[in-house]
Amino acid sequence: MRAIIAFVVLVGLLLPTVALPSSPAPEDPPVTSDLIVQRIIESVLADEHPVERLQELCDVIGPRLCGSENMDRGIAWAMAQLKADGMDVVRAEPVMVPHWVRGEERAEVIAPWHHDLPLLGLGGSIGTPEEGIEAEVMVVSDFDELEARADEAAGRIVLFNPPWEGYGKTVQYRVKGADAAAKHGAVACLIRSVTQSTYGPPHTGVMRYTDEEGVPRIPAAAIRVEDAARMERQHRRGLPVRVRLEMGAQRLPDVEQANVVADLIGREKPEEIVLVSGHFDSWDVGDGAHDDGASCVLAMEVARQLKKLDLRPRRTVRVVLWIDEEMTQTGAKAYMLAHADEVDRHVAAMESDSGCFAPAGWSVRGDSTTVALVAEMAVPLAVLGADDVSEGWAGVDVRPLNEAGVPGIGHRTQNDEYFLYHHSPADTYDKVDPDHVKANAAAMTALIWMLAEAEDPLPR
Ligand SMILES: [Zn+2]
Repeated sequence: MRAIIAFVVLVGLLLPTVALPSSPAPEDPPVTSDLIVQRIIESVLADEHPVERLQELCDVIGPRLCGSENMDRGIAWAMAQLKADGMDVVRAEPVMVPHWVRGEERAEVIAPWHHDLPLLGLGGSIGTPEEGIEAEVMVVSDFDELEARADEAAGRIVLFNPPWEGYGKTVQYRVKGADAAAKHGAVACLIRSVTQSTYGPPHTGVMRYTDEEGVPRIPAAAIRVEDAARMERQHRRGLPVRVRLEMGAQRLPDVEQANVVADLIGREKPEEIVLVSGHFDSWDVGDGAHDDGASCVLAMEVARQLKKLDLRPRRTVRVVLWIDEEMTQTGAKAYMLAHADEVDRHVAAMESDSGCFAPAGWSVRGDSTTVALVAEMAVPLAVLGADDVSEGWAGVDVRPLNEAGVPGIGHRTQNDEYFLYHHSPADTYDKVDPDHVKANAAAMTALIWMLAEAEDPLPR
């Protein structure tokens, strides 16, 4: 026997071309197979498809405020695209969403000198009475100053002009400023746009009214950083600043729209789901290129590339384009209800919503073992700059899944410039670098492949 083996080995060595029975190919490629990841990266980087698709979304569909007609057109467009990509299942899952409309709006500074005041009503704000509101402006830096000078607020328009301290901190004035001012009798609320940018238009975003009794609802809008700064200087100098504003904003009855959901069904564990997502709604200004159109195109591209490369992973890859992230997150809530029976079979939930800039890595919501496993998977993504993994926030829409125990993965980008465009008329296709679209698509496709192909699911 030993001699026969020796002979076969010898023949094998001497005659490498001889037709020996080949050893069976491993049925599944090893999950961290650098070769497959490399193949994915090369394929995606060479493909202009997501860039062209983003341009089409921005130029043909346009901004996608939830409740709007454009959003309906966007949903129909995405369904058709995903079907054309050959997804196994494409569904529009109904969600009742708020329908807020901006209406006509305009403002002017009347004193100390007259000029137009570009403004953007905040999402959810009521409008002004038809004749508008004219009042003296009280400028404060923060909530503490408002409280300290509360007796001056009655009958005034309160302007919050806080310094930019990053989005997470500064955004509180946009969300809660109107209530704080209304408690002290203010008739309207203005905020310095939530941005570090001092060039360009105002930035909108959602605000909320409290249900607390005795707090009237007052109109709220954002103004440019320059105008807020000037009004503060004038106010501190003791000059009365007078502003007149007209806002036609109103909340119409809720309408039925949808989360768009598409599955590339897994070859071995079809019931286990790796979710990849972005939010499909945007604000009504600009065309929602960075926030969050590009991410939706990236999520679609992940499944399309796997299909194109004939890499059907072990588990199901599910693309979700969320509705109503910007206003009230009804899309995320509806998904949890519609998929209650399979939440525990979600292996990971990825969301991309930090602008489409150069890849920066991943923010993982899970325990230290999960973070370490994702960090290991991300090693071959170093060529894209997408290998940095830290524990942290995964995304607004995947948050309910995360809270139910599903590991969350936030796609991060080098987004120092994001808030120059965010929620403003400047968030348009021309601000997106096509190479960044491709690099992010490559990073997301590779990581989703590894998550969907791994022998064991991430711990939860
Ligand atoms: Zn967003």
